[in-house]
Amino acid sequence: ELLYSLFVEAVEQVPIAISITDKKAKILYVNEEFCRVTGYRPEDILGENESLLSDKRTPREVYYDLWRTISAKKVWRGTLCNRHRSGERYLSDLTIAPMLNEAGAITHYIGMHRDITQSY
Ligand code: FAD
Repeated sequence: ELLYSLFVEAVEQVPIAISITDKKAKILYVNEEFCRVTGYRPEDILGENESLLSDKRTPREVYYDLWRTISAKKVWRGTLCNRHRSGERYLSDLTIAPMLNEAGAITHYIGMHRDITQSY
């Protein structure tokens, strides 16, 4: 019980933007850093698709590669052009890992990203 609340607090407070989605990228959970980086409050974005963050400038091939990789149960890492709630664009260094059940089937995806605009 104590360890459980410690895990929850750790994910809430870790300084990387974390989201958990279903298999179609519908957002089920976001942590505090995700809200800070994207500008959305949980109530704005829970239930929406991650594509809400897309600036639509990221080449389609990047998304094909992303989905091909994660649906094959592998970890994908890359850079996307995202849009903050304010409309401002930022570069996102994103890692997506599939979450598997005991039978080895994908149940969710976990996304972890950082705003790397300043590094360019
Ligand atoms: P979409 O129609 O959503 O996707 C483009 C192509 O991807 C489709 O033509 C299809 O080939 C493929 N595709 C889409 N959904 C599926 C699916 N369920 N299974 C297999 N293939 C599929 N995108 C961002 O732009 N920024 C982010 O920060 C971001 N974070 C993500 C985090 C997680 C955990 C996941 C799972 C996805 C994330 N995505 C993110 C991808 C996002 O869900 C969209 O696929 C993407 O933004 C493109 O959106 P779209 O509306 O242009 O096209």
